[in-house]
Amino acid sequence: PVVTRFAPSPTGFLHIGGARTALFNWLFARANGGRFLLRIEDTDRARSTEEATQAIFAGLDWLGLDHDGEAISQAARADRHAEVAREMLAAGTAYKCFSTQEEIESFRETARQEGRSTLFESPWRDADPATHPDAPYALRVKAPREGETVIEDKVQGQVRVRNDQLDDMVILRSDGSPTYMLAVVVDDHDMGVTHVIRGDDHLNNAARQMTVYQAMGWPAPVWAHIPLIHGADGKKLSKRHGALGVEEYREMGFPSPAMRNYLTRLGWSHGDDEVFTTEQAVEWFSLDGIGKSPARLDLKKLESISGHHIAAMEDAALLSEIDSFRAAIGADPLAEAEREVLGRAMYCLKDRAKTLPQLLEKAHFCLTQRPIEPDEKASKSLDTVSKGILSELTPHLRNASWSRDTLEGIVAGIAEEHGLGLGKVAQPLRAALAGRTVSPSVFDMMLVLGRDETLARLTDAAA
Ligand code: GLU
Repeated sequence: PVVTRFAPSPTGFLHIGGARTALFNWLFARANGGRFLLRIEDTDRARSTEEATQAIFAGLDWLGLDHDGEAISQAARADRHAEVAREMLAAGTAYKCFSTQEEIESFRETARQEGRSTLFESPWRDADPATHPDAPYALRVKAPREGETVIEDKVQGQVRVRNDQLDDMVILRSDGSPTYMLAVVVDDHDMGVTHVIRGDDHLNNAARQMTVYQAMGWPAPVWAHIPLIHGADGKKLSKRHGALGVEEYREMGFPSPAMRNYLTRLGWSHGDDEVFTTEQAVEWFSLDGIGKSPARLDLKKLESISGHHIAAMEDAALLSEIDSFRAAIGADPLAEAEREVLGRAMYCLKDRAKTLPQLLEKAHFCLTQRPIEPDEKASKSLDTVSKGILSELTPHLRNASWSRDTLEGIVAGIAEEHGLGLGKVAQPLRAALAGRTVSPSVFDMMLVLGRDETLARLTDAAA
């Protein structure tokens, strides 16, 4: 059975790269009927915050990346990590190192001057325990000196690291605290993780972590180190490339299925498929589809994918995306009446909206109350002549059957009488109904608003 995990360090917001890593692990687990676990790597007490942990939970929740079982705190497992370090000591795969910080520094300094590798070689590695002083010590793994460590990586292929490039890393500090490198391996083993999918900035760690697997005789997981995301200019992602936190994308109003689709495409592909549902992604996802070169962040592409999702989503799903968006930007929840009218209007709002704020902008006409205050551009189309046309329209509308065909006929008839194009009548009508120059079609607005509200708005505007 497949077990994957996402193991973020809670030191900031949920980074877009982290979200992508979480998503790939989630997809791989769901695609294989496996489990997706969450481990908060909070061992760095100085940098880890509860706020950052909450931001990670919120981001995953928004993206719909549900984890199986309870989230695990790495810091809470320190005793277990130390226990494994002691087991390694007892088995002779780790040793006590009494070298002080100064001694290590001076070893490195000498090595630098002599042009040798600065990887520390502890004089205690093969020391007779009888010679051990009564002094503080760290535990170091006895890493192999000869040969090489081979990582069979599902993305990078076979990665070979010469063992003389691996040091005897510390697994337990002299204050008794386990190191991060040990904790990761022990946790992944104890959690039964079968596949480690993470950023390729951890590729070097994999070789070092392998020494612990080997020392403990534990089977290593399948590795898949994915290339980090780059900016549009092909450079390493940084602040100047725009939004890095997942929360910012939520606040920009991208619906979560669109964000999942976009993040899935960020480094993974399935033929030419660009727009797909999460169900399809789960069906198609495999590690073979992960590319070897870094994907580039592309807001235009995200917008285009988002537009497709908005157009295709069920009304109810869109409404709950709107709720989630409004909550994210701190807006009041929609009133019952607003939800009701939005539900009726949704059919004419979905097209050509790339984000939820764009959709809500189109919905302005049905969320706003009389009197409609036309904005500057709209009021320009409400001159005396136009007001006259609006007054002429009202008696026709009062008695018409309220269907698209009839309404189109009436507006076309008035336009013809005045020798005007349809647009010339639609413009003041739009200004009267929406107070804006951009809105759904005037017929859609009339149908959504109904007869009474339409007439009231036209009368207001013609006055
Ligand atoms: N905590 C590490 C990070 O946030 C991830 C470690 C791992 O996936 O093994 O970069």
